[in-house]
Amino acid sequence: MIMAAKLLDGKALAAKIKKGLLADVSSLRIRYKRSPKLVSVQVGEDPASEIYLKSQRKNAEALGIEYSLEKLDAKTSQSDLIKAIDKLNKDASVSGIIVQMPIPQHIDGKIISRYISPLKDIEAVHPQNMGEIVFGKAKILPCTAAACMELLNSIDSLDLYGKEAVVVGHSEIVGKPLALLLLNKFVTTTVCHIATGERGALPDFVKKAEILIVACGKACLVKGDWIKEGAIVIDVGINRVEGKIVGDVEFDKAQEKASYITPVPGGVGPLTVAMLMKNVVEAFKLQQ
Ligand code: NAD
Repeated sequence: MIMAAKLLDGKALAAKIKKGLLADVSSLRIRYKRSPKLVSVQVGEDPASEIYLKSQRKNAEALGIEYSLEKLDAKTSQSDLIKAIDKLNKDASVSGIIVQMPIPQHIDGKIISRYISPLKDIEAVHPQNMGEIVFGKAKILPCTAAACMELLNSIDSLDLYGKEAVVVGHSEIVGKPLALLLLNKFVTTTVCHIATGERGALPDFVKKAEILIVACGKACLVKGDWIKEGAIVIDVGINRVEGKIVGDVEFDKAQEKASYITPVPGGVGPLTVAMLMKNVVEAFKLQQ
């Protein structure tokens, strides 16, 4: 008989975290007479950002976190964007700042990330916050990488120490910080990326993974029959295929081999937003 993997329910876990945050925000309001505030800065319009922006507002407002969206013209210069960020850095009512990606090509996102105050950098894109992860001292973690760790931590029977993990994808917002978070927990961690794929070595690495985390943005890149028997599979990918959202892992077949697997949608996505809200509350506390 084929055993189907248990689903790692990101929605339920996010609801639990947000319940705690709701209580946190209400006690902070009593203590400090104000609420944490999140400001999202959007330069120009991008349809891909709209869903995320809506979700930021909805989640913030449901938790009693103030939310404001600052829309800047697509032609805003890099120096004017830096000035706008600096104003938010100096505004004591603002707890967290996001500069919504993608931004227009004449602006360098990597330079911009250096101008967000590390204490308000709720996506952990500032080099200081990134660097703290190396030392295992980060107070604010990149949201999606943190969401993956939350999902792993939600498995009671899992002892991470000495486990073998494979992370597929080495982006600055997901794969790289996640690899460090896993290493900090003494997980033996391999990171694969496009060059691993190009030399045809991806199946060999994936087959060894007790914990597999895939963040590539390529629909069904990881085939179900590559999955190690009993593996824990976290699928970060979001891909639109024929009007449906699918992940980077061939879900139906992977579910037959894994012990735990995240659905897409409903896995990492809802938790990422919960982690963002957690970071706003954490940033507020750090600023007191
Ligand atoms: P990215 O485009 O910055 O990086 C993609 C990574 O995948 C790179 O490291 C690249 O080398 C690797 N890659 C691409 N093709 C490959 C192949 N054939 N074999 C092996 N590696 C390959 O992506 P990102 O920003 O990290 O996002 C990855 C995916 O995760 C996207 O689908 C994105 O939408 C999704 N995402 C989801 C959430 C969430 O909350 N669920 C958050 C962030 C990103």
